Amino acid sequence: MTQLTDKTQTAPFELVMTSAPTLPTYSIVVPVYNESEVLPELHRRVQSVMNQTGEDWELVLVNDGSWDNSAEVMARLSAQDQRVRGISLTRNFGFQIAVSAGLDAARGRAVILMDADLQDPPEVVLEMIDKWREGYDVVYGVRSEREGETWFKRVTASGFYRLIRRITNINIPIDTGDFRLMDQRVVEAIRHMPERRRFLRGMVSWVGFKQTGVSYKRHARYTGATKFTLGKMLRFALDAVTGFSYMPLQLASYAGFTMALFSALAIIAVIALRLFGVSQSLLGQATTLVTVLFLGGVQLISLGIIGEYLGRMYDEVKRRPLYLIEQRWGFNEPTDK
Ligand code: UDP
Ligand code: MG
Repeated sequence: MTQLTDKTQTAPFELVMTSAPTLPTYSIVVPVYNESEVLPELHRRVQSVMNQTGEDWELVLVNDGSWDNSAEVMARLSAQDQRVRGISLTRNFGFQIAVSAGLDAARGRAVILMDADLQDPPEVVLEMIDKWREGYDVVYGVRSEREGETWFKRVTASGFYRLIRRITNINIPIDTGDFRLMDQRVVEAIRHMPERRRFLRGMVSWVGFKQTGVSYKRHARYTGATKFTLGKMLRFALDAVTGFSYMPLQLASYAGFTMALFSALAIIAVIALRLFGVSQSLLGQATTLVTVLFLGGVQLISLGIIGEYLGRMYDEVKRRPLYLIEQRWGFNEPTDK
């Protein structure tokens, strides 16, 4: 006991000083996939907005396997400005996982998620910070207007949000994207959600806490084109639905019950018609064929739905790491988060 007291008294002064690193108040996490042209402008805009807060901040860029020179631009920005930290993943893991890697690395007390393309204006972050200061843990951006997006994208997006809302038991606010501020408590909760097929909007909604929105106008991309193809969007929608709802699995039982009821009625009708001697003209080969094909279709769809869930379960059971890191910039210690 006495020894312990002695030790603390003789501890060198420097040691005490270095043991308290200053962590930034805000982390801005940005996934980057072939965005080299926009990165310097992103850095400039983020810098001019975040400097207005008068507090420390960091910009965490996650290179999601870009094949343009985004990595070089990130290295340069990080060398110029020590508040910029970069992570390069070994390949393209997709938006959701790139963002998760960024959340893992973010050290701020509030973490802001933003797209690289400046569709979500960084200036809105100041409003989000105000709400956070008021005591909200999640402040999501609500798109009041969308510029430069096709009619098709708008209609499918709004249909998607409404579908998700109906069939899942979590409440994802309509017209929100991933542009949001999260308190470190929320980020910590998300770090503990190990699912491989990630749907962050749903996950953030699932964790609860105090949530609110600020509305903003979504601009057109600063440069380049969207990285989301129709195929990617469909996969994303399927992940969202399967991740948060069992409804598709239940569809097979509903269809089964309906079919059974319908056939029971049909059997009674056929027997009655036979008793009254009018059945010959009723049932032909075509009717049988159509019925069998229809039921075959329903069964295959049900099998497919089970397959979607089964495949995802297999992914989860394998427990592979979410992502692999190739290179990092602005991380001082090997163990630095
Ligand atoms: N992104 C990514 N990995 C991908 C696709 C996109 O990290 O596989 C990034 C992209 O660089 C951008 C953000 O995710 O910062 C949003 O992408 P995009 O602007 O293409 O999507 P949209 O706004 O059209 O939905
Ligand atoms: Mg975009």
